Amino acid sequence: MLNDSDVKIFAKYMPQFPPSSVWLVGAGPGHIGLISVMGLFALKQADVIIYDALVNKQFLQFIRADAEAIYAGKRGGKPSASQDNIIDTIIKHAKRGKKVLRLKGGDPFIFGRGGEEVDALAKANIKFLAIPGITAGIGGLAFAHIPATTRETNQSITFLTGHDAKGVIPSAIDWDALAKGAQTIVMYMSLKHIHAICDRLMAGGRQANEPVAFVRNATLPDQQVWQTTLFEAADFVLANDITPPAIVVMGANVELRDRVLDYALPFYPHPADTQQPQ
Ligand code: SAH
Repeated sequence: MLNDSDVKIFAKYMPQFPPSSVWLVGAGPGHIGLISVMGLFALKQADVIIYDALVNKQFLQFIRADAEAIYAGKRGGKPSASQDNIIDTIIKHAKRGKKVLRLKGGDPFIFGRGGEEVDALAKANIKFLAIPGITAGIGGLAFAHIPATTRETNQSITFLTGHDAKGVIPSAIDWDALAKGAQTIVMYMSLKHIHAICDRLMAGGRQANEPVAFVRNATLPDQQVWQTTLFEAADFVLANDITPPAIVVMGANVELRDRVLDYALPFYPHPADTQQPQ
Protein backbone atom coordinates (compact mmCIF):
# COMPACT_ATOMS: atom_id res chain seq x y z
CA MET A 1 0.00 0.00 0.00
CA LEU A 2 1.06 3.60 -0.52
CA ASN A 3 2.45 5.22 2.63
CA ASP A 4 2.62 8.94 3.53
CA SER A 5 6.01 9.43 1.95
CA ASP A 6 4.81 7.88 -1.32
CA VAL A 7 1.87 10.26 -1.32
CA LYS A 8 4.25 13.19 -0.66
CA ILE A 9 6.33 12.19 -3.67
CA PHE A 10 3.27 12.33 -5.89
CA ALA A 11 2.09 15.58 -4.26
CA LYS A 12 5.37 17.32 -5.21
CA TYR A 13 4.57 16.91 -8.89
CA MET A 14 0.90 17.82 -8.81
CA PRO A 15 -0.49 21.10 -10.16
CA GLN A 16 -2.33 23.41 -7.74
CA PHE A 17 -5.99 24.02 -8.38
CA PRO A 18 -6.54 27.80 -8.63
CA PRO A 19 -9.90 29.19 -7.45
CA SER A 20 -12.27 30.29 -10.24
CA SER A 21 -10.90 27.64 -12.60
CA VAL A 22 -12.36 24.45 -14.06
CA TRP A 23 -10.57 21.14 -14.37
CA LEU A 24 -11.92 18.53 -16.72
CA VAL A 25 -10.90 15.17 -15.37
CA GLY A 26 -11.22 11.81 -17.09
CA ALA A 27 -12.43 9.25 -14.54
CA GLY A 28 -11.51 6.28 -16.72
CA PRO A 29 -13.82 3.54 -17.97
CA GLY A 30 -15.31 2.47 -14.64
CA HIS A 31 -13.07 0.80 -12.08
CA ILE A 32 -12.04 3.24 -9.38
CA GLY A 33 -8.36 2.35 -9.86
CA LEU A 34 -8.32 3.57 -13.44
CA ILE A 35 -8.36 7.31 -12.73
CA SER A 36 -4.98 9.06 -13.03
CA VAL A 37 -3.04 10.06 -9.92
CA MET A 38 -3.36 13.66 -11.08
CA GLY A 39 -7.12 13.27 -11.34
CA LEU A 40 -7.29 11.83 -7.84
CA PHE A 41 -5.30 14.73 -6.35
CA ALA A 42 -7.59 17.14 -8.20
CA LEU A 43 -10.64 15.45 -6.71
CA LYS A 44 -9.30 16.15 -3.23
CA GLN A 45 -8.72 19.85 -3.97
CA ALA A 46 -12.03 20.60 -5.71
CA ASP A 47 -14.84 22.64 -4.10
CA VAL A 48 -17.51 21.56 -6.59
CA ILE A 49 -17.57 18.25 -8.47
CA ILE A 50 -19.95 17.93 -11.42
CA TYR A 51 -20.08 14.30 -12.54
CA ASP A 52 -21.70 12.31 -15.33
CA ALA A 53 -23.86 9.18 -15.31
CA LEU A 54 -21.04 6.84 -16.35
CA VAL A 55 -18.74 7.99 -13.55
CA ASN A 56 -18.28 5.43 -10.76
CA LYS A 57 -19.96 6.81 -7.60
CA GLN A 58 -17.15 5.27 -5.54
CA PHE A 59 -15.06 8.33 -6.47
CA LEU A 60 -17.29 10.49 -4.29
CA GLN A 61 -15.62 8.90 -1.25
CA PHE A 62 -12.57 11.06 -2.00
CA ILE A 63 -14.16 14.49 -2.05
CA ARG A 64 -13.82 16.79 0.94
CA ALA A 65 -16.69 16.97 3.44
CA ASP A 66 -17.19 20.66 2.59
CA ALA A 67 -17.22 20.05 -1.17
CA GLU A 68 -20.41 19.87 -3.21
CA ALA A 69 -21.12 17.01 -5.63
CA ILE A 70 -23.56 17.71 -8.46
CA TYR A 71 -24.93 14.90 -10.62
CA ALA A 72 -25.27 15.85 -14.29
CA GLY A 73 -26.53 12.57 -15.74
CA LYS A 74 -29.80 10.79 -16.37
CA ARG A 75 -31.70 9.53 -13.35
CA GLY A 76 -34.99 7.75 -12.69
CA GLY A 77 -36.24 8.11 -16.24
CA LYS A 78 -35.86 11.89 -16.16
CA PRO A 79 -34.05 13.35 -19.15
CA SER A 80 -30.40 14.09 -18.58
CA ALA A 81 -29.45 17.65 -17.77
CA SER A 82 -29.02 19.43 -21.06
CA GLN A 83 -25.51 20.26 -22.16
CA ASP A 84 -26.34 23.98 -21.92
CA ASN A 85 -27.49 23.58 -18.31
CA ILE A 86 -24.35 21.69 -17.41
CA ILE A 87 -22.15 24.36 -18.93
CA ASP A 88 -24.13 27.10 -17.13
CA THR A 89 -23.69 25.29 -13.81
CA ILE A 90 -19.95 24.89 -14.35
CA ILE A 91 -19.53 28.57 -15.24
CA LYS A 92 -21.73 29.78 -12.37
CA HIS A 93 -19.61 28.00 -9.76
CA ALA A 94 -16.32 29.08 -11.34
CA LYS A 95 -17.48 32.71 -11.34
CA ARG A 96 -18.24 32.35 -7.63
CA GLY A 97 -14.56 31.62 -7.05
CA LYS A 98 -14.87 27.85 -6.70
CA LYS A 99 -12.43 25.20 -7.83
CA VAL A 100 -14.73 23.33 -10.19
CA LEU A 101 -13.97 19.77 -11.21
CA ARG A 102 -15.85 18.34 -14.16
CA LEU A 103 -15.57 14.57 -13.78
CA LYS A 104 -16.28 12.69 -16.99
CA GLY A 105 -16.29 9.00 -17.90
CA GLY A 106 -13.28 7.72 -19.80
CA ASP A 107 -11.35 10.57 -21.39
CA PRO A 108 -13.01 14.00 -21.49
CA PHE A 109 -12.14 14.55 -25.13
CA ILE A 110 -13.14 11.18 -26.58
CA PHE A 111 -16.84 11.42 -27.48
CA GLY A 112 -17.32 13.17 -24.16
CA ARG A 113 -18.20 16.75 -25.09
CA GLY A 114 -15.10 18.01 -23.28
CA GLY A 115 -14.28 20.09 -26.34
CA GLU A 116 -17.63 21.87 -26.17
CA GLU A 117 -17.10 22.57 -22.50
CA VAL A 118 -13.61 24.09 -22.83
CA ASP A 119 -14.89 26.14 -25.75
CA ALA A 120 -17.65 27.56 -23.55
CA LEU A 121 -15.16 28.20 -20.73
CA ALA A 122 -12.87 30.11 -23.06
CA LYS A 123 -15.79 32.25 -24.21
CA ALA A 124 -16.66 32.93 -20.55
CA ASN A 125 -13.05 33.94 -19.77
CA ILE A 126 -12.48 31.02 -17.42
CA LYS A 127 -9.18 29.17 -17.16
CA PHE A 128 -9.20 25.40 -17.42
CA LEU A 129 -6.99 22.34 -17.23
CA ALA A 130 -7.77 19.00 -18.88
CA ILE A 131 -6.53 15.82 -17.21
CA PRO A 132 -6.79 12.84 -19.54
CA GLY A 133 -8.42 9.56 -18.64
CA ILE A 134 -8.33 6.01 -19.95
CA THR A 135 -10.98 5.84 -22.61
CA ALA A 136 -13.45 2.91 -22.59
CA GLY A 137 -12.35 1.91 -26.09
CA ILE A 138 -8.86 1.16 -24.79
CA GLY A 139 -9.38 0.28 -21.12
CA GLY A 140 -12.43 -1.82 -21.91
CA LEU A 141 -10.54 -3.84 -24.48
CA ALA A 142 -7.70 -4.49 -22.04
CA PHE A 143 -10.08 -5.74 -19.33
CA ALA A 144 -11.71 -7.98 -21.94
CA HIS A 145 -8.27 -9.39 -22.79
CA ILE A 146 -8.42 -8.08 -26.33
CA PRO A 147 -5.14 -6.44 -27.39
CA ALA A 148 -6.03 -3.20 -29.20
CA THR A 149 -3.16 -3.74 -31.62
CA THR A 150 -0.77 -6.56 -32.33
CA ARG A 151 1.89 -6.65 -35.01
CA GLU A 152 0.30 -9.67 -36.62
CA THR A 153 -3.26 -8.33 -36.80
CA ASN A 154 -3.46 -4.55 -37.14
CA GLN A 155 -1.15 -1.60 -37.57
CA SER A 156 -3.89 0.96 -37.10
CA ILE A 157 -7.06 1.43 -35.10
CA THR A 158 -10.11 3.60 -35.72
CA PHE A 159 -12.44 5.01 -33.05
CA LEU A 160 -15.93 6.08 -34.02
CA THR A 161 -19.26 6.99 -32.46
CA GLY A 162 -22.40 5.24 -33.70
CA HIS A 163 -24.48 8.39 -33.52
CA ASP A 164 -23.84 12.05 -34.06
CA ALA A 165 -25.25 15.16 -32.38
CA LYS A 166 -28.60 14.54 -34.11
CA GLY A 167 -28.78 10.95 -32.82
CA VAL A 168 -28.35 9.29 -36.21
CA ILE A 169 -25.46 7.43 -37.81
CA PRO A 170 -22.77 10.04 -38.46
CA SER A 171 -23.12 11.12 -42.08
CA ALA A 172 -19.68 12.72 -41.95
CA ILE A 173 -18.13 9.24 -41.85
CA ASP A 174 -17.31 7.86 -45.28
CA TRP A 175 -18.56 4.34 -44.52
CA ASP A 176 -17.27 2.81 -47.75
CA ALA A 177 -13.81 4.23 -47.19
CA LEU A 178 -13.93 3.08 -43.57
CA ALA A 179 -14.97 -0.43 -44.57
CA LYS A 180 -12.03 -0.67 -46.96
CA GLY A 181 -9.38 1.37 -45.20
CA ALA A 182 -9.81 0.74 -41.49
CA GLN A 183 -8.28 -2.27 -39.80
CA THR A 184 -9.58 -2.63 -36.24
CA ILE A 185 -12.65 -0.45 -35.58
CA VAL A 186 -13.67 0.45 -32.03
CA MET A 187 -17.19 1.82 -31.73
CA TYR A 188 -18.77 3.88 -28.97
CA MET A 189 -22.52 4.44 -28.55
CA SER A 190 -23.22 2.13 -31.45
CA LEU A 191 -25.75 -0.43 -30.15
CA LYS A 192 -28.82 1.53 -31.20
CA HIS A 193 -27.71 1.70 -34.82
CA ILE A 194 -25.74 -1.55 -34.91
CA HIS A 195 -27.90 -2.97 -37.67
CA ALA A 196 -27.35 -0.04 -40.02
CA ILE A 197 -23.66 0.23 -39.13
CA CYS A 198 -22.98 -3.44 -39.89
CA ASP A 199 -24.96 -3.22 -43.14
CA ARG A 200 -22.98 -0.18 -44.24
CA LEU A 201 -19.68 -1.88 -43.46
CA MET A 202 -20.61 -5.08 -45.29
CA ALA A 203 -21.92 -3.08 -48.24
CA GLY A 204 -18.51 -1.38 -48.27
CA GLY A 205 -16.78 -4.74 -48.62
CA ARG A 206 -16.09 -5.77 -45.06
CA GLN A 207 -15.93 -9.58 -44.61
CA ALA A 208 -19.11 -11.03 -43.09
CA ASN A 209 -17.12 -13.44 -40.92
CA GLU A 210 -14.94 -10.74 -39.38
CA PRO A 211 -14.78 -11.16 -35.58
CA VAL A 212 -16.76 -8.69 -33.48
CA ALA A 213 -16.73 -8.42 -29.69
CA PHE A 214 -18.98 -6.49 -27.31
CA VAL A 215 -17.69 -5.35 -23.93
CA ARG A 216 -20.46 -4.15 -21.64
CA ASN A 217 -19.84 -2.38 -18.32
CA ALA A 218 -16.15 -2.72 -19.01
CA THR A 219 -13.83 -2.87 -15.99
CA LEU A 220 -16.79 -3.07 -13.57
CA PRO A 221 -17.84 -6.12 -11.50
CA ASP A 222 -20.68 -6.87 -13.93
CA GLN A 223 -18.53 -6.63 -17.05
CA GLN A 224 -19.73 -8.91 -19.84
CA VAL A 225 -17.92 -9.86 -23.03
CA TRP A 226 -19.44 -11.52 -26.08
CA GLN A 227 -17.91 -12.55 -29.38
CA THR A 228 -19.63 -13.01 -32.71
CA THR A 229 -19.17 -12.08 -36.38
CA LEU A 230 -20.00 -8.99 -38.39
CA PHE A 231 -22.80 -10.85 -40.20
CA GLU A 232 -24.40 -12.02 -36.94
CA ALA A 233 -23.68 -8.92 -34.87
CA ALA A 234 -26.99 -7.03 -35.14
CA ASP A 235 -29.16 -10.09 -34.36
CA PHE A 236 -26.71 -11.05 -31.64
CA VAL A 237 -27.30 -7.75 -29.82
CA LEU A 238 -31.06 -8.40 -29.79
CA ALA A 239 -30.80 -12.07 -28.87
CA ASN A 240 -28.47 -11.40 -25.96
CA ASP A 241 -30.17 -8.20 -24.89
CA ILE A 242 -26.93 -6.23 -24.97
CA THR A 243 -27.61 -2.75 -23.61
CA PRO A 244 -25.42 0.34 -23.11
CA PRO A 245 -22.82 1.10 -22.05
CA ALA A 246 -20.91 -1.16 -24.38
CA ILE A 247 -17.91 -0.95 -26.66
CA VAL A 248 -18.01 -2.78 -29.97
CA VAL A 249 -14.70 -3.89 -31.44
CA MET A 250 -14.31 -5.36 -34.89
CA GLY A 251 -11.11 -6.78 -36.30
CA ALA A 252 -8.63 -9.63 -36.43
CA ASN A 253 -7.18 -8.65 -33.04
CA VAL A 254 -10.42 -9.82 -31.36
CA GLU A 255 -9.43 -13.44 -32.02
CA LEU A 256 -6.41 -13.15 -29.76
CA ARG A 257 -8.74 -13.21 -26.79
CA ASP A 258 -9.46 -16.93 -27.12
CA ARG A 259 -5.77 -17.76 -27.08
CA VAL A 260 -5.00 -15.92 -23.83
CA LEU A 261 -8.24 -16.10 -21.89
CA ASP A 262 -7.29 -19.14 -19.80
CA TYR A 263 -4.23 -17.30 -18.52
CA ALA A 264 -5.84 -13.97 -17.69
CA LEU A 265 -6.19 -13.40 -13.95
CA PRO A 266 -9.74 -12.44 -12.98
CA PHE A 267 -10.23 -8.85 -11.73
CA TYR A 268 -13.38 -9.78 -9.87
CA PRO A 269 -14.97 -10.69 -7.54
CA HIS A 270 -13.27 -8.20 -5.24
CA PRO A 271 -14.46 -8.14 -1.60
CA ALA A 272 -14.74 -4.33 -1.56
CA ASP A 273 -17.19 -4.34 -4.42
CA THR A 274 -19.77 -6.23 -2.44
CA GLN A 275 -19.65 -3.54 0.27
CA GLN A 276 -19.81 -0.37 -1.84
CA PRO A 277 -23.09 1.33 -2.66
CA GLN A 278 -23.35 1.58 -6.45
N1 SAH B 1 -15.60 9.82 -22.85
C1 SAH B 1 -15.94 8.42 -22.73
C2 SAH B 1 -16.99 8.02 -23.75
C3 SAH B 1 -18.34 8.66 -23.50
S1 SAH B 1 -19.52 8.17 -24.68
C4 SAH B 1 -14.68 7.59 -22.87
O1 SAH B 1 -13.62 8.12 -23.22
O2 SAH B 1 -14.74 6.38 -22.61
C5 SAH B 1 -20.35 6.85 -23.86
C6 SAH B 1 -20.02 5.54 -24.51
O3 SAH B 1 -18.73 5.12 -24.08
C7 SAH B 1 -20.94 4.40 -24.14
O4 SAH B 1 -22.12 4.41 -24.92
C8 SAH B 1 -20.08 3.21 -24.46
O5 SAH B 1 -20.01 2.98 -25.84
C9 SAH B 1 -18.72 3.71 -24.00
N2 SAH B 1 -18.44 3.35 -22.60
C10 SAH B 1 -18.18 4.18 -21.58
N3 SAH B 1 -17.94 3.49 -20.45
C11 SAH B 1 -18.05 2.19 -20.76
C12 SAH B 1 -17.90 0.97 -20.04
N4 SAH B 1 -17.58 0.94 -18.75
N5 SAH B 1 -18.09 -0.19 -20.71
C13 SAH B 1 -18.38 -0.21 -22.01
N6 SAH B 1 -18.53 0.91 -22.74
C14 SAH B 1 -18.36 2.09 -22.14
